[in-house]
Amino acid sequence: MKLVIIPVTPLQQNCSLLICEASGKAVLVDPGGDVERLKAAVATHRAQPERLLITHGHFDHAGAAAELAEFWDIPIEGPQIGDEFLLDSIPQWCRQFGHPLGRSFLPDRWLADLDEVTFGEERLKIRHCPGHTPGHVIFFHAEEKLACVGDVLFKGSIGRTDLPGGSYSQLLDSIRDRLFPLGDLVRFVPGHGPMSTFGEERRNNPFIR
Ligand SMILES: [Zn+2]
Repeated sequence: MKLVIIPVTPLQQNCSLLICEASGKAVLVDPGGDVERLKAAVATHRAQPERLLITHGHFDHAGAAAELAEFWDIPIEGPQIGDEFLLDSIPQWCRQFGHPLGRSFLPDRWLADLDEVTFGEERLKIRHCPGHTPGHVIFFHAEEKLACVGDVLFKGSIGRTDLPGGSYSQLLDSIRDRLFPLGDLVRFVPGHGPMSTFGEERRNNPFIR
């Protein structure tokens, strides 16, 4: 599987393009904005988008999903249903941040803990990781030991919990009980900033000890 990270929006949110190398089928995780940049990346890598996957309902992660789903005629899957109120308010958040207007949407499929999504010959496992938002999910590829964790965990930091629906204790539980058991060797793409591994963060992240 090939991973391409495309930072989008003024918040430099890491949109991940995951490509099944056997079939060319692909998913985009968190297409938050910069529609033309995402279309160009897909064309450059000759990928065929099969689904759009959403970790959580914040506009910088989900703001371009409705437009791209229509463009490629593909489904949107995720987040967990607890983020419905955030998807409903995408236009308001965009206005507040001076971001090009994103559209509200209902996903074609809400995801739940331990669900799976597939594309081409690849398979991703879902973990529900509330705390940053109530309906936040992460996507885990077991064979590649790779996770897309949105705004749950960053290199050297954790997601904010002061936004609507946030909970600091839930976030720490999600990180300790659902992310770290996936293994120290797992590399992860955070919603913002550089990649890291769960082992590195388990040992050195000052917000978790
Ligand atoms: Zn967020």
